[in-house]
Amino acid sequence: MANEKRVDLTAKVINLCQRRGIIFPSCEIYAVHAGFFDYGPLGVQFKRNIENAWWNRFVVSREDVVGIEGALLSPRTLWKASGHLDSFTDPLVECKKCGLRSRADHLVEDALKINVDGLSVKHLQQMIDKHKLACPKCKGTLLPIRTFNLMFKTHVGATADEADEAFLRPETAQLIFADYKLTQFVSRKQFPFGIAQVGKAFRNEIAPRNFVFRCREFTQMEIEYFIRPNKLDDCLLLGADLLDQEMVFFTAACQENKTDALRMTLRDALAKRVVATRWHAYWLAECFNWIVSLGINPARLRLRQHTRDELSHYSSETWDVEYEYPWGWKELMGIANRTDFDLKQHAKASGKDLAFHDQATNEKIVPYVIEPSLGADRLLFTLLMDAYRETGEGTDVKTVLSLSPQIAPVFVSIFPLMKKDGLAEKAREIFNQLRKDGFVADYDEGGSIGRRYARSDEAGTPFAITVDYDSLKDNTVTLRERDSGKQRRIPSNELAAVLRA
Ligand code: ATP
Repeated sequence: MANEKRVDLTAKVINLCQRRGIIFPSCEIYAVHAGFFDYGPLGVQFKRNIENAWWNRFVVSREDVVGIEGALLSPRTLWKASGHLDSFTDPLVECKKCGLRSRADHLVEDALKINVDGLSVKHLQQMIDKHKLACPKCKGTLLPIRTFNLMFKTHVGATADEADEAFLRPETAQLIFADYKLTQFVSRKQFPFGIAQVGKAFRNEIAPRNFVFRCREFTQMEIEYFIRPNKLDDCLLLGADLLDQEMVFFTAACQENKTDALRMTLRDALAKRVVATRWHAYWLAECFNWIVSLGINPARLRLRQHTRDELSHYSSETWDVEYEYPWGWKELMGIANRTDFDLKQHAKASGKDLAFHDQATNEKIVPYVIEPSLGADRLLFTLLMDAYRETGEGTDVKTVLSLSPQIAPVFVSIFPLMKKDGLAEKAREIFNQLRKDGFVADYDEGGSIGRRYARSDEAGTPFAITVDYDSLKDNTVTLRERDSGKQRRIPSNELAAVLRA
């Protein structure tokens, strides 16, 4: 798709989401706060499929990862220890005249049409001063940048004491660290092993934008993978298949020297110390490949290293898997080496010994952590953008979502050619049987068959079954594939097996 076409792609996808009730602004009838979204019937099933696919791939099918579910609200002490209370901030600029508050990096990006990922607050301020940037709304003078903490605060119980302050978690990770010792004990996992969690996170983003790409309440899918500090290069899972895989690396050096990203194998990236450790390299490839397995075009993906200025307070090395959105290359997910920072901080703050006592060597080990962290809503939106196609011309343009069958909200639609002559009854029989067989199916008898195909394509449903007069005679139906448009006749009692295949 050419560039100008990609720009209105965002508007088209958002329009589709609202038109089909996939995702829409929360509490729309009151329309008070931006950045909160509700998911309708198609959207909630889609999101659940994504979360289930992630959970199956990274928890159920792995021996070395277990899951937990932590509380959403946690005490001040936890967030003080993790560093979020002091450092989980975004740069805020306020207009002296109209009071409009903007995120400084977004303001600079929008005004100068450049990518400023990785720039420090000091550097952003210099750019605002140098280019004499003003308020985007009223052109008023901007006050100096200050930092704004992104956590939502409340109090537990009927008190106003600081000790009873609690925060909605801005990431799921900290609950994993707080529960780490108990989880390792009950699951009897030895290093290396991971703890995974899918759940809500909350960030009081200064300027939520691009629909669910950046919202204030969202779902994260995170793994904290614990490794002995001296075994970060000891990764048996990093086989030749992954090592020989080529990916695009936009290193910190490329960004600093303003050179193009580098395409190379993971083997070369490790040899050249582009990626520091083999376990980090393994998780980069695993995450990249899983995203591609969902159907996302790999040509629109790259790995970008965080620059020194940009690294979070806990990280020694972070890579983002970036996607080329219509508004530029941006983070889809992050994969950080969080070192032993979090566990050490929590041990110090809680007074609890969080080290692992190795009976064999009598050592106390505080593991290092590689953290793949991905937002379910951001991934869902990215999948929609990547899968959006249009067919036909002029007034006959039809929308098709080419979503992979493993995550499409509805797997198969069933249509009777006509409502009469027993066709609807026969189609319903098939519909009920397929649902009993475990398929998410949709029955539609409204309008012409062409319109029903169009509705089904627009919802991203990969297969459609039509029941016609021949079906009554010989018990066969037409199975149509969304992307190829190919149709074939198959006996209805073989449908479940064919669809599964
Ligand atoms: P960004 O740079 O886009 O603000 P971040 O670096 O703050 O993201 P992380 O803290 O690394 O994000 O969070 C991990 C993942 O959670 C992100 O890669 C993204 O998929 C998701 N995520 C983070 N913030 C949001 C948000 N406001 N809305 C939706 N998803 C988000």
